[in-house]
Amino acid sequence: MTPEAMIPQTVLPQGATVNGQGHLVIGGCDTLDLADEFGTPVYILDEESLRQKCRRFVQEFQKRHPATQVVYASKAYINPALAKIFAEEGLGLDVVSGGELALAKSVDFPLDQVYFHGNNKSPQELAEAVENNIGWVVLDSFHELEILNAIAGDAGKIQNVLIRVSPGIDPHTHAHTTTGILDSKFGFSIQTGHAAQAIRQTLQAANLSLRGLHFHLGSPIFELEPYRAAVDLVIRFASEFREDGLELKEFSPGGGFAIAYTRDQEPPDVGEYAEAIVSTMISTCQELSMPLPRLIIEPGRSIIGPAGVALYRVGTIKDIPGVRRYVSVDGGMGDNIRPALYQAVYEVIAAGKADQKPSRKVTIAGKYCESGDLLATDIMLPEMETGDIIAIPAAGAYCPSMASNYNLNPRPPMVLVRNGESRLIRRRESYQDMMHCDVV
Ligand SMILES: *Cc1c(COP(=O)(O)O)cnc(C)c1O
Repeated sequence: MTPEAMIPQTVLPQGATVNGQGHLVIGGCDTLDLADEFGTPVYILDEESLRQKCRRFVQEFQKRHPATQVVYASKAYINPALAKIFAEEGLGLDVVSGGELALAKSVDFPLDQVYFHGNNKSPQELAEAVENNIGWVVLDSFHELEILNAIAGDAGKIQNVLIRVSPGIDPHTHAHTTTGILDSKFGFSIQTGHAAQAIRQTLQAANLSLRGLHFHLGSPIFELEPYRAAVDLVIRFASEFREDGLELKEFSPGGGFAIAYTRDQEPPDVGEYAEAIVSTMISTCQELSMPLPRLIIEPGRSIIGPAGVALYRVGTIKDIPGVRRYVSVDGGMGDNIRPALYQAVYEVIAAGKADQKPSRKVTIAGKYCESGDLLATDIMLPEMETGDIIAIPAAGAYCPSMASNYNLNPRPPMVLVRNGESRLIRRRESYQDMMHCDVV
């Protein structure tokens, strides 16, 4: 086997390779050099993978339906340098808080390309959205509908809105990340009649302009059928309100596109998701003689997830004879909560021994004071020693964005790599940073 064949290419950024010393190379950079230069834990983002994925989404959807806007879901992970990249790639931005909106504003992201989501936006956040002339607020409750209508009225503005409906379709993913079923805190349920009521009420609201409907089923969704079923159902539902004055000018089936976390996973390609969504939308609209709406696609995980690789350094190794070997690293649930929260499973690569055969079963433990702080359980690696670097691929989404200061560990830096060059886009937190807001 060539060294390249020994690394799980499908979970790594494009062009990942193994150099003559047996080290994992990402974006042309030796990961061991990156670990030395920036310290560990550190999150590496491959800029080329990130940009290519943005372009793939735009191309695959626009070639099937030119009136498609691709909107990056910031909650997967955002910072100012990345927001600039998404703007350069022509993407819009989904935000779910005043903080994400403030970040977009700080880099002059075009705010007319911003969508504001969330099941409990505060009056202050809604006021900030209206004040800043953001493109769309995605209505999620009657409470919000009333507040937003009043805020827009006070500001003398008409706010564009979409209504988030819950179609009652199960995408077969983890319960914590299923959002479009009846028992969900998100959206107006079609089943209960609340979605119908929300449409009528919004059409009556003097200061809101109802542009269309939105749904988001959950994430990650490895199947195409839930998208097909929900697109068809929601467009049919929209058609029932034509006489009430609802024109479906815009339509969004959200995000949730899956990525491979392990070598045995084969999620659909971007083109397959695009085909399922666009062909269903077109055929249902044609059947109902409805004009085709503008389509809004909201990928988060699928854009930034595969571009990210976390690097950790091995510290303590503990053998419990006949039970297991714990290999502890200098990060864990503070920078990646997903194994503890969702039982997420990751590949682990011995970054400095990427050309060596796995020879021993180990469990990778984090450094946090929780027994559940395990990054990977019972995986096969080459013989690991203290000081070795391990890499966890597919770590770009919902890891740094969910990071905490639990145990007062500083959150890790973020480094962008491309063509053998690296650029720090977020420095490591200091102890002072962590105490910055404390009042003595
Ligand atoms: C989280 C979320 C997304 C993005 O989901 P991914 O799985 O990261 O693609 C898109 N739209 C809405 C409304 C969301 O809440």
